[in-house]
Amino acid sequence: MTEIWFDPTKCFIGGQWVAPAKGQTLTLENPSDGTPICEIARGTAEDIDAAVAAARTALKGEWGKLPALERGRILTRIGQKVLERVDELAALEARDVGKPLKQARADAVALARYMEFYGGAADKIHGETIPYLDGYTVYSLREPHGVTGHIVPWNYPMQIIGRSVGAALTMGNAAVLKPAEEACLTALAFAAIAEEAGLPKGALNVVPGLGEEAGAALSGHAGINHISFTGSVGVGSMIQAAAAKNVVPVTLELGGKSPQLVFADADLDKALPFLVNAGIQNAGQTCSAASRILVQREIYDEVVARMAERYRALKVGPAVADLDVGPLISARQKEIVTGFLDLIGDGRIVAQAEIVGDAPAGGHYVAPTLVADVTPDHRLAQEEIFGPVQVVIPFDTEEDAIAIANGTDFGLVAGIWTNDGGRQMRLARAISSGQVFINNYGAGGGVELPFGGTGKSGHGREKGFEALYGFSVLKTVAAHHG
Ligand code: NAD
Repeated sequence: MTEIWFDPTKCFIGGQWVAPAKGQTLTLENPSDGTPICEIARGTAEDIDAAVAAARTALKGEWGKLPALERGRILTRIGQKVLERVDELAALEARDVGKPLKQARADAVALARYMEFYGGAADKIHGETIPYLDGYTVYSLREPHGVTGHIVPWNYPMQIIGRSVGAALTMGNAAVLKPAEEACLTALAFAAIAEEAGLPKGALNVVPGLGEEAGAALSGHAGINHISFTGSVGVGSMIQAAAAKNVVPVTLELGGKSPQLVFADADLDKALPFLVNAGIQNAGQTCSAASRILVQREIYDEVVARMAERYRALKVGPAVADLDVGPLISARQKEIVTGFLDLIGDGRIVAQAEIVGDAPAGGHYVAPTLVADVTPDHRLAQEEIFGPVQVVIPFDTEEDAIAIANGTDFGLVAGIWTNDGGRQMRLARAISSGQVFINNYGAGGGVELPFGGTGKSGHGREKGFEALYGFSVLKTVAAHHG
């Protein structure tokens, strides 16, 4: 078992590991068997105050004065150190989130990749000179917001920290990170690694704790200049309201009900692994999970049968067994997901995966479930389940497919499977979502690819260069010199 090489009962504030002001802790649970992993700090408003103050001090001190090149070098060093510790980070994440080791490892590699990408980009964001009236020189500067707040969920802690904190630091902001109470070990590990890599004190501060305590204190804090939130629609809406009181910009990365559209001319051999994997990856606890598979009627039965075959071959078990699917994060999440399955009504369970016999009884396992024959307006086809459940829905024409695809409150990601080039182009425009994938799904999750939602999936973009614009403010300078 990987040793925890930092003290998880402490917050990381101003470059110091400090006990939370109220001295309280929370117990972290291993979702694979329900046993306690360790105690973690239960930060509260006092700790958020201290973290925001430390971040402000960092902006006025060494961190705020560093040239972009040096910020980039530090990020790149953090990335190298993450790579050196990939196996340890993967083991921590697997234990904390319950994800199979190989998936946890991929997340650690992605965290390193974010640091490399943003480290290299730090000195490549330039302002412009703007042609203007005679006697003027006008140019623009990209400046940091100041102190940025980052509230992240438990499902992909390393990836979300990479894309959000990584981009914020690149632009010279000082960050206060509130990881999820269900899984925060890699957030603290990241702080320890950043410290080792020489990140100046106060540039990154981490305060673990409950959403309604530390999270609410951060989102409503008058000293924060930007908030990045990834999580549920309900909490996202509260965060936006809290930020509005301080007139602070917000990036919201919320949920989804993302479709993959499969037309009769699609290459099914290529599509099938993507159709299933995008539903069961991380036990379906993925904001961009493809939870709706829309299939043209003439191939509907064939696709359902071939997906079912794959479902029956999937193995579910503890993270350390490194099977296809791990447990859900908590007993509560399991209750929510199984509650959805109770609503099946006229729908039909076509296939379920196997939970291995030696999966610990205390783990939160739900067998991935393939559901056919629900109508597009059924709750299983409309609401985010956030578990390993996919619905397969038939359609007849391209217009029907677009209407069903766009017929939810969400718009995060979509996949289109067809070899008709004109249809690919029409659908890419017609579908309302932040990302569209043609004859693939997710494109390997590239850190370069801007990501974010439309509708209730949120607003603002993270990842890629686009995030660097979001984590900075444009200033226009107009000099009159005659
Ligand atoms: P959640 O909204 O309950 O929690 C997310 C974070 O918000 C946690 O750190 C939590 O402590 C904090 N929080 C909770 N209440 C708060 C409050 N009142 N004030 C401030 N912070 C508060 O979500 P969850 O259950 O942890 O995550 C699942 C949801 O996240 C799903 O809906 C999923 O789609 C979404 N998600 C979206 C993306 C994306 O990039 N779009 C990525 C991952 C997860």
